[in-house]
Amino acid sequence: MKKLYFGSNLKMYKNIRETTDYLIRLQKLTQDLEHEKITLFIIPSYTSLDRASGITDQNQIMLGAQNMCWEEVGQFTGEISPLMLQELGIKIVELGHSERRHIFGETNEIIGQKVKAALEHGFIALLCIGETGKEKQCGISDEILRIQLKTGLSKVCEEELDKLWIAYEPVWAIGVNGLPASSDYAQEKHHVIKNILQELFGEPGKAVPVLYGGSVNLENAGGLIQQPDIDGLFVGRSAWDAEKFNQLIRDATEAVNMEVS
Ligand code: PEP
Repeated sequence: MKKLYFGSNLKMYKNIRETTDYLIRLQKLTQDLEHEKITLFIIPSYTSLDRASGITDQNQIMLGAQNMCWEEVGQFTGEISPLMLQELGIKIVELGHSERRHIFGETNEIIGQKVKAALEHGFIALLCIGETGKEKQCGISDEILRIQLKTGLSKVCEEELDKLWIAYEPVWAIGVNGLPASSDYAQEKHHVIKNILQELFGEPGKAVPVLYGGSVNLENAGGLIQQPDIDGLFVGRSAWDAEKFNQLIRDATEAVNMEVS
């Protein structure tokens, strides 16, 4: 079976108590999974991270931050430094989520600086990319993915690739108004992404995990994860209930196992 990745960004939805309750429950439910083959991760709000890292076994569920500044110290009101995240012992930094790009105006260049800083500080950099509905309509999705990858990864070297994950999250597929991408469409774009990674880094680029995100649910998770170029699922709403997320992980893993046997 290929190595699988399942994770969720809790956005601005759960407070400290809700996050710890959720993590305790999810840890219990997923304890028996084969953790060498299945990587789980949760990305809570900044205010919950300290408590979350105190109660979570990161060999079982890795923790991440939703954003990070590229500088270590300085006049950056409202920002969080890589050193501050290191203090918390978290493993992953999510960068370039569509809400950061489209609501907060983060550019590919800024995201590229953050990716480099995250890698230099020993974090896994989870770079999110994806085209908007308009870009899809104009038929320029592949070009957008190419620009996001080439700029976002422009400072990354081959030695850092083992700490790089990509999440393909088409903007039109995300959130309450999103429509999930079909398995075929997602596979087609993951193939494009894998080819660009190979073009940028040669053979080692092929090993970078590429996760799909955007209205993943219990019904479509199995079909998506069975696609050859989809290594994992980055889930929003359908993961915020621990029982539901546990079920989704198990159903999706089962779908991959069935395909192998
Ligand atoms: C997201 O916002 O990154 C996301 C994948 O959300 P949802 O699954 O709710 O569409």
